[in-house]
Amino acid sequence: NSVISNNEIAGQFPILKQPVHQDKRLVYLDSAATAQKPLAVIQSMNAFYEHTNANIHRGIHALAEAATEAYENARTKTARFIGVADARQLIFTRNTTESINLIAYTWGRKFLNKGDLVVLTEMEHHSNLVPWYMLAEEKELRIEFVRVRDDGTLDMRHYHDLLEKKPRLVSFTHMSNVLGTINPAKEMIQDAHRAGAVVVIDGAQAVPHFGVNLTDLEPDFYAFSGHKMCGPTGIGVLYGKMDLLNAMPPFMGGGDMIKKVTFEGFSTNDVPYKFEAGTPAIAEGIGMGAAVDYLESVGMDAVFAHEQELTQYAFNVLADVKGLRIIGPGADVRGGVISFTLEGIHPHDVAQILDSEGIAVRAGHHCAMPLHQRFNIPATTRASLYLYNTKADLDALRKGLDKVIEIFA
Ligand code: PMP
Repeated sequence: NSVISNNEIAGQFPILKQPVHQDKRLVYLDSAATAQKPLAVIQSMNAFYEHTNANIHRGIHALAEAATEAYENARTKTARFIGVADARQLIFTRNTTESINLIAYTWGRKFLNKGDLVVLTEMEHHSNLVPWYMLAEEKELRIEFVRVRDDGTLDMRHYHDLLEKKPRLVSFTHMSNVLGTINPAKEMIQDAHRAGAVVVIDGAQAVPHFGVNLTDLEPDFYAFSGHKMCGPTGIGVLYGKMDLLNAMPPFMGGGDMIKKVTFEGFSTNDVPYKFEAGTPAIAEGIGMGAAVDYLESVGMDAVFAHEQELTQYAFNVLADVKGLRIIGPGADVRGGVISFTLEGIHPHDVAQILDSEGIAVRAGHHCAMPLHQRFNIPATTRASLYLYNTKADLDALRKGLDKVIEIFA
């Protein structure tokens, strides 16, 4: 039994109390796209605008100092949350996508050269593909993809074969947003380091759902988004090793990222400010700090245990739905992302009928078109879970799918 009391947690999320389509209970199964926000996060941002709003790092007045302290405090909390002692190693970005683009644009452009090999996997989100495609085009890099096996796990033999080719960079997702596969990041990072590669991890689906400790994992870069972990949109994180961050040129130019500007040129500020040009998303940063407090108050072990229990329950509830096929690994070895096809029924139709019952799922390629290509399916329906979901939500999903089948039979 999970330690999370369903109704107590759900009660902390105002949006979940609001009916949809007039009188339908909202069954929110789309947290892999974005998570709902607990009242504590919403209130932290309101409180900032009501009491503290000012620009940071520059002003010498009471509000500016309070705003700076609150923003930097959020950075410190977020660093501690992922096991990082030195908060300067966390750059605030807009989201995972911007974090990965930042690495490609600065580190990649400076340190990768014609003919260098970049290793990705077949299960990557577009945000961990396209920035490297763009860079590869510019710098004439080679890209190879670790194969995904039929069971939705990475082909580790193939991974090791690719490492033999001495890639300069390896970048992969910690957890797949389609398959729910949790990749053995620590081992993979160690193996890549032994092969001499710099390692980037896309942690967008990991940090929200289980305890992530970067001191233990030792990646070179790690990216994630606030909005998938109960925080606001518009704020994300890029963690980097200090020597790499110091060696990287700046990303965007402007205020805050400089030490000195003259008519002759400029000198860059220290890490992390070197990468944070212009006025940042201050309220969002503070909201991110509140999301970290919130998740810590529940406990990441409890969050993960709860999702594991619900995933198992979902597999049981869906087991005898006619024509339903879940892609990815079995319930005991995956996160709470369940993508499936229903024989003869398009995922968009499935999602639309579920929506009419108040059930929010996602249909399509989930920003992972190559992965769907790999499985020879154009699209899937995805139900994704978080700490506020309940078994009743999954019972509702089952009932909704029965209705879908009834309509299309
Ligand atoms: N990577 C993965 C695995 C994701 O699930 C997502 C969001 N769907 C992203 C990257 C991109 O996140 P964002 O849109 O917040 O930049």
